[in-house]
Amino acid sequence: MSAAFLEALHREIPGLRLLTDVADRESYRRDETAHHEPGMPLGVALPADTGEVAAIMRLATEHRVAVVPRGAGSGLSGGSAGVDGALTVVMTRLDRVLEIDRGNLVAVVQPGVINADLKAAVAAEGLFYAPDPASYEFCSIGGNIGTNAGGLCCVKYGVTRDAVLSLEVVMADGTVIRTGGRNVKDVAGYSLTHLIVGSQGTLAIVTEATLRLRPAPPPKQTLLAFFPTMDSAGVAVAAMTAAGLEPCTLELMDRQTIAAVDDWHHLGLDREAAALLLVESDRPGEAADVELEQAATACTDAGAASVVRATDPMEADWLRQVRRMAYRAMERLGVARMEDVGAPRAQLPALLAAIERIAAAHEVRCGTFGHAGDGNLHPTFVWDRGDTAAEERAHAACEELYRAAIAMGGTVTGEHGIGAARREFLEEQRGPEAVAVMRAIKKALDPLGILNPGKVV
Ligand SMILES: Cc1cc2nc3c(=O)[nH]c(=O)nc-3n(C[C@H](O)[C@H](O)[C@H](O)COP(=O)(O)OP(=O)(O)OC[C@H]3O[C@@H](n4cnc5c(N)ncnc54)[C@H](O)[C@@H]3O)c2cc1C
Repeated sequence: MSAAFLEALHREIPGLRLLTDVADRESYRRDETAHHEPGMPLGVALPADTGEVAAIMRLATEHRVAVVPRGAGSGLSGGSAGVDGALTVVMTRLDRVLEIDRGNLVAVVQPGVINADLKAAVAAEGLFYAPDPASYEFCSIGGNIGTNAGGLCCVKYGVTRDAVLSLEVVMADGTVIRTGGRNVKDVAGYSLTHLIVGSQGTLAIVTEATLRLRPAPPPKQTLLAFFPTMDSAGVAVAAMTAAGLEPCTLELMDRQTIAAVDDWHHLGLDREAAALLLVESDRPGEAADVELEQAATACTDAGAASVVRATDPMEADWLRQVRRMAYRAMERLGVARMEDVGAPRAQLPALLAAIERIAAAHEVRCGTFGHAGDGNLHPTFVWDRGDTAAEERAHAACEELYRAAIAMGGTVTGEHGIGAARREFLEEQRGPEAVAVMRAIKKALDPLGILNPGKVV
């Protein structure tokens, strides 16, 4: 069956780049979810256009072979991880920015475009594409759409879904559809765009996206505050939200993460602090100063030990880089399992307390950082490779953490997705009736279950 499928791909799509060597299949097997054991793909296809993707799906349907859509493979839920016997379809060769339409403030792009490259292309036109995952230098727009990626400036500008106006997608049977156009307002029928964004390659394969742009905001002003306790940092964030401040970045790093970054790059960060907050404002002119003064007051009132302002744009850039390094710095310490829990924003102090309590109770090493302004944190559990007892304790801590997040009205994943790694908690969070509706949608769009099986639902 699988040999016949590979033969059909060769025969019917003669130009298709198709890799079947073990070494090639191995290299596309994993995403960045270190603790998830993936399957081994049957082969890896790198299509060059929509026509090739559609032909792949027609043949996959005919031969009943599963397909795993894949972008840059930086996902943290096993979404693009290999499935035994499935074809992994890597979208990185569809990597062109097709159009920047100033009149309508949209960009039309292929899914393999790297987020940072799109940002640079539109910046050259004085425009701004907002979604900015910390992985923006190496993740793809298709993957961002697949996961509904968040990032550092969602707190002000929203997540990927808020920036997608329309998609061209290939359905499981190879049919190609468009889900919308360039309209800012468009309520004709169900919003297939919104349904497909965040569906992690389980409903359709994205081959083109029409994305919303904004005029470039003014340069950012930056503030850094150091806190003696995690709780005081959480209280400061909650106070900023309650005061109606709209910083474009409101990020947190705890003591373990500060130390990991500082050990790596020797930056002279305050290692005595229990937590730091990075706050940025991109309001015009003096309005940014006013906003950061209000943020500084919230920090001081909550008990910040020190509050400093970046003196120039280079220093501000450097501080943002410090935050972006957090996960890689934790990864240097062992096997890292980055979690992605969230809670309603006013509950941030409670979420931080739960993380500290659970990590201590299970005696696991944990560094926490993340998008505090969104109520979305990345507690990252680390253990020595081969220390199975510590690994089991970390898994138990994660399960307890998921339940704590659900109990406070939060979520087991704010932006990385259910993927393959968190499936058993979907029903616990959403309830069986809601998951049954999701499964009905999946069945209607992919009756044979060939798109990314074993992921999400
Ligand atoms: C250091 C680091 C920092 C990170 N920071 C953030 C962050 O701040 N915010 C955040 O949200 N994430 C973050 N991530 C996670 C990851 O970068 C994002 O989930 C990103 O959106 C994945 O993009 P990708 O191109 O690597 O996709 P992949 O990992 O290849 O795929 C992700 C999912 O999308 C699906 N998919 C990919 N392409 C398509 C397509 N064309 N059509 C349909 N489905 C598709 C896949 O099947 C999979 O389910 C981080 C990861 C790392 C390693």
